Amino acid sequence: MWQANIFTSFPDAFPGSLGVSLIGKALKRNEWCLNIVDLKKFPAHNDRIDSYPYGGGVGMLLSPLTFEMAFNSLNSSSENERIFSENEQKFKRTQKFKRIYFSPRGRQLNQKDLADISQSAGLTVLCGRYEGVDQRILDYYKFEEVSIGDFVLLGGEVAAMAIIEGCVRLLPGIVGDQQSVQNDSFQENLLEHDQYTKPSVFKNIAVPEILLSGNHQKIRSFQNDLSKMITMKKRPDLWAKYVQDNMKLI
Ligand code: SAM
Repeated sequence: MWQANIFTSFPDAFPGSLGVSLIGKALKRNEWCLNIVDLKKFPAHNDRIDSYPYGGGVGMLLSPLTFEMAFNSLNSSSENERIFSENEQKFKRTQKFKRIYFSPRGRQLNQKDLADISQSAGLTVLCGRYEGVDQRILDYYKFEEVSIGDFVLLGGEVAAMAIIEGCVRLLPGIVGDQQSVQNDSFQENLLEHDQYTKPSVFKNIAVPEILLSGNHQKIRSFQNDLSKMITMKKRPDLWAKYVQDNMKLI
């Protein structure tokens, strides 16, 4: 079963949006597993999990001692024993999970990352709060710093939900029609074409006639051309990748 381990000081934020709709139903059916580790259960300094940065500066940083205790608990807490006993290999696999620390200074996450992670056994995520975390946590435990955009949030929990939702929807059987996942934006470096539903005319704007023709071959070709035009216009960087990949195929 695909598993997400999340280290957070705000466990109540979960499952949040991961508990609703298709992904929430799949969680209840044990089609994937969410393992939340509450950092606040592992205080290191006078009942605190964080401390002031050396050298001065505002804010607090997560202590490496707290993280060490929380990480080690993955193998010993009763919650985790329950999860790991389902499959004796599970903990060993956890060691191989990709480790991600969410941070505005990280590399920006993309659909290829999600596809790779969804094909692995799972993911371990560290959510920062306040000023962030002691650098030695990232260095010792080999966390990759990843960002969800050039803006600053209060914490990594929303980012964790975003990556997990993106990975779980790629697991087989989660989205009823697998074709719809394959047609989404970023597959083959193209953005999705425009889409329409009833009524066929809204505020004097008509749906493109070809979509009402019933000629599926022509419709596919129209949508494919539209995808290319939209990608060229909105994301020249993606378009360049698409052209490069398709030149390789010629
Ligand atoms: N001091 C940090 C800096 O300047 O880079 C910002 C810390 S931020 C207030 C607190 C936490 O929110 C971060 O440790 C990170 O986990 C999360 N966070 C904030 N913005 C993020 C983003 N764009 N992508 C991913 N995580 C983010």
